[in-house]
Amino acid sequence: MVLRVNIDQIEPATRDWICKVQIVEIGRPRESLDKKCTFQNLILEDEEVRNAKLKQVCRIEALCQNNQIFQQMGVFYVEAEMAILDEFQDFCVLECSGCKQKKRTKDRKDFHCPKCNRKTALVPRCSFQIDLIDNTATTTASISAELGEKILSMTAEDIFDTTCTKRQSLSLTHVHEMLSNKVFAIQLRKSSWASSNTTNATLSILSYTEK
Ligand SMILES: [Zn+2]
Repeated sequence: MVLRVNIDQIEPATRDWICKVQIVEIGRPRESLDKKCTFQNLILEDEEVRNAKLKQVCRIEALCQNNQIFQQMGVFYVEAEMAILDEFQDFCVLECSGCKQKKRTKDRKDFHCPKCNRKTALVPRCSFQIDLIDNTATTTASISAELGEKILSMTAEDIFDTTCTKRQSLSLTHVHEMLSNKVFAIQLRKSSWASSNTTNATLSILSYTEK
């Protein structure tokens, strides 16, 4: 019989189980010590943990602290105001049209993608930093793709044309007006990346609705 379980019920001896999970984070492919295989670490969250976190409004101060439960990676829910404090960002990145991997370039000519192993086009994707403010603290999160385009009321193509081709800054007056004095219910994903000897956490917005 197949058992439906949550993550905390799974032990090495548990057999024939299924568990509904969400992938919170996918690590970079790494090579095993004996160099015989490559592997990737995945951080998973089950429905119970996810739902409990989403019922609870996190204070931004707590979310940014590293010595608490919130050093956990995963999906969190905050109620906060949003503002774009850095107006001079590019607001977009270029990615491979095949594998969607971000490329560190602003030059749109076709290139040979090592991952796709063929010549592909680069397409712009909306991506920028937005500041979240509640009455405990302020933090910066990233927002991208359709969610970002919706806030800016611009397509990724138009954003790229303005900030990267014409090298002008975006006119954000209407965005500031639209965001001012509004509280949003925001779902955030906290994930981590390691640099030489520290682990850094980043927040990205998964969804938002006006309260
Ligand atoms: Zn590619």
